[in-house]
Amino acid sequence: MNSMKTGIMGGTFDPIHYGHLLAAEEARRNLGIDRLIFVPTGDPPHKKDHHITPAEDRYAMTLLATAGVLEYSVSRIEIDRRDDTHTVDTLREFIASGIKPEDLYFITGLDAMLSITSWFEYEKIPELCTLVTARRPGYPVSGIETLPKFVRDKLKYIEIPQFAISSTEIRERARDGRGIRFLVPHLVEIYIESNNLYKNS
Ligand code: ATP
Ligand code: MG
Repeated sequence: MNSMKTGIMGGTFDPIHYGHLLAAEEARRNLGIDRLIFVPTGDPPHKKDHHITPAEDRYAMTLLATAGVLEYSVSRIEIDRRDDTHTVDTLREFIASGIKPEDLYFITGLDAMLSITSWFEYEKIPELCTLVTARRPGYPVSGIETLPKFVRDKLKYIEIPQFAISSTEIRERARDGRGIRFLVPHLVEIYIESNNLYKNS
């Protein structure tokens, strides 16, 4: 029997939107990934970034966005970690839980992947998983060549339908009362409205 392929989609998810969901789902389809785990980042320690919405709200929205999709789940691994959260530690924890590196896929948009060389212990990351990256509007594909070869060797680039949205834009629209319908899942829209998120951002 083939072993189960696991995809990890990390993000601040403040809030989660259809760009995230589409990138993760296209990665899943393209690479035959069996299950996808969404991993919202924890609250920044020492309140470095005080304008980030509390982790519990971002976690709740990620649950609402993925509920009912059989292959999807949400992990609290970074939310429950006390210190700074680093991708490399998250991948190590998934491997410690029994997933083999050859079955582990870490999914990002291209903007995130192009910053990988600034991540904590990034040299270790290509040993732990396959990297999957999807094009994102506004970020030229040409940046991939600038990544070190040992990263590129573990990187799979996928073309996906382009969704020119970001959480930043959704927060601004929510703040200005411009409407976010069809940019985020319906239940996420309701959650943002009922909790008055982003009104003072
Ligand atoms: P913010 O504007 O607050 O930075 P964001 O929309 O960039 O939010 P993040 O939580 O920072 O969302 O991103 C999580 C992951 O999702 C990253 O790997 C990012 O590249 C990817 N991503 C975000 N938006 C899109 C999109 N529209 N298409 C493809 N990938 C995306
Ligand atoms: Mg971002």
